[in-house]
Amino acid sequence: MGQLFFQPQNAHRVRVDGRELLFHVPTTALFELDGLEGEVLGFFAERGTLDAHEVAARFAGQDPDRVAGSIKDLMDLDIVCDAGGPKPDRPAAKIEQFPLSTIVLNVNTGCNLSCSYCYKEDLDTPKNNRRMEFETAVRSIDLLLKESPDRDDYNLVFFGGEPLSNLGLIKAVVEHAEPRFAALGKRVSFTMTTNATLLTEEIVDWLDAHRFGLTISMDGPKALHDLRRKTVGGKGSYDVVAAKARMLLARYKSRPVGARVTLTAGVTAVEEIFEHLKYDIGFAEVGMAPVTSGDMAIFNLSGDELAEVFAGMKRLGLRYRDAALRGESLGFSNIQNLMKDLTEGRARSLPCGAGLGLLAVDHAGEVNLCHRFTGSDMETFGHVDTGLRREALKGFLTQRLDRTDKGCATCRIRSICSGGCYHESYAHFSDPLKPAYHYCDLMRDWVDFGIRLYSEIAAARPGFFAPATAARPQARRA
Ligand code: SF4
Ligand code: SF4
Repeated sequence: MGQLFFQPQNAHRVRVDGRELLFHVPTTALFELDGLEGEVLGFFAERGTLDAHEVAARFAGQDPDRVAGSIKDLMDLDIVCDAGGPKPDRPAAKIEQFPLSTIVLNVNTGCNLSCSYCYKEDLDTPKNNRRMEFETAVRSIDLLLKESPDRDDYNLVFFGGEPLSNLGLIKAVVEHAEPRFAALGKRVSFTMTTNATLLTEEIVDWLDAHRFGLTISMDGPKALHDLRRKTVGGKGSYDVVAAKARMLLARYKSRPVGARVTLTAGVTAVEEIFEHLKYDIGFAEVGMAPVTSGDMAIFNLSGDELAEVFAGMKRLGLRYRDAALRGESLGFSNIQNLMKDLTEGRARSLPCGAGLGLLAVDHAGEVNLCHRFTGSDMETFGHVDTGLRREALKGFLTQRLDRTDKGCATCRIRSICSGGCYHESYAHFSDPLKPAYHYCDLMRDWVDFGIRLYSEIAAARPGFFAPATAARPQARRA
């Protein structure tokens, strides 16, 4: 054994109830260390560089084979290497094709609400709405199948504005897509985020019959919801949204329905909001989206407010853990998604599927990275009539994959965060390629919290995460 070098960027040590855990940063695998393994790792972390004499002296009296085995395990994980300096987690990925599974269709730029914080740059009042034509939607599906012909499952997402304000097109697309995908021996599913105001019993039953995955935008109890989710005339929309949501939840059987909450300046009461949406209204899941980079800075949460939001989300996280220990799911999407990431070991090179597995088509057929970019100044990546601008899209993703000289290169949550949402960076820095550096510390703290929660649940109720962990037998899960 020559000189060995500790690679701190690949190891994150977390102590939970006296147990020593190792979070393997490149893969997000979580290992529980025994006493000796913890000491070996600690010695490397303390000294940085070690040779055989130093190791032998420090662990005199311990079984040399076990010491050597611990070092080999760390070398297998690239936590200890025989050459100094950070190495990339994996060879620079080359994007050769786009494994598209999802197309977002912006079926109408118009919305019957006028939420003051809305980020949509192509948002119109109902009077000035621009609607997608059926032909554009069909050509979007053509593009999806052309770019990605070999999948079994595809997803069509209906977005707006308010998508239900173009229900005729949605119905026509579903009628077109179901037999078309079935004839190819493939499955297609549909999802939609809606403000719920236009729902009727008949529409709900139709959506149910086609198994739509539904998310309702709702910001909490009346006072909080009405603060910013207003009609075009300026009235609060709570009463109608709450009534429609209750009607929907009473009738909808095919899939669980979730609520999506937008948290803006002055709104940090995440527990109160959760209670209302989960238990008073009855949503299966509630997810919180804190706004830090809106176009109108007055709606962004301040640093202190964001910290309050994360503190509230952690308290909800503890309730998620307590429910999990009883074998129940609380239905709090933010922590649920983080648990899923940790369970399935999603080591990401890119923050999300935008531009790779997902593209958004605007009302006129322009292809955008995702639904948030439609109508923005960001370049588009083709048109459904002329096809994808493959080289431009490859170029964009390749630049984002390159972490050289970026804080993300050595960040301990890089395989989960991967630089954060392109649109957050676009809105905050006018540069979608720049990592979302404005809340890294909070994100790291949130992931550490998730690791603790995960290990507590996995230790006390191993079956809770079992189906997914079974897919990763190589990881000795904590
Ligand atoms: S954006 Fe920040 S938190 Fe995310 S990977 Fe980069 S450095 Fe880490
Ligand atoms: S870029 Fe941001 S908003 Fe768009 S899909 Fe990715 S995470 Fe979502």
